Amino acid sequence: MNIEKVEKKLNTTKRMQIIDITTQADEVISSLEINSGIISLWVPHTTACVTINENDSSLWQDMLNRYKDLVPLENNYLHPKNAHAHILSSLIKPSLQIPVIEGKMTLGTWQRVLFIELDGPRQRKVVYTLMY
Ligand code: ZN
Repeated sequence: MNIEKVEKKLNTTKRMQIIDITTQADEVISSLEINSGIISLWVPHTTACVTINENDSSLWQDMLNRYKDLVPLENNYLHPKNAHAHILSSLIKPSLQIPVIEGKMTLGTWQRVLFIELDGPRQRKVVYTLMY
């Protein structure tokens, strides 16, 4: 098995925010000119994460609102300032693995790769690892 790693930076602009990074993932795959394998996305942070879902700004607002209902921004946490972000990150998870066939991620029609900022704005990193 071969492994190629590419790191990309991402600047978030809000405290909680969803950003579609599908195009960034596509660019990583095409830059490596790899036909088939598995792409892993890894977010090396404790207050951000990734998921797969639709690109729809009203859905994104619904998701962020429900995340805040599930884990409120303030709730007598012992950890200062951003406990909500750590808790949500542990629930949503910092990684994804997606099969790549013929140079493309095998995403369904409505599936997009979404980065979720939980304690921004910050400069973030996404580590892409292609195994083939
Ligand atoms: Zn913290």
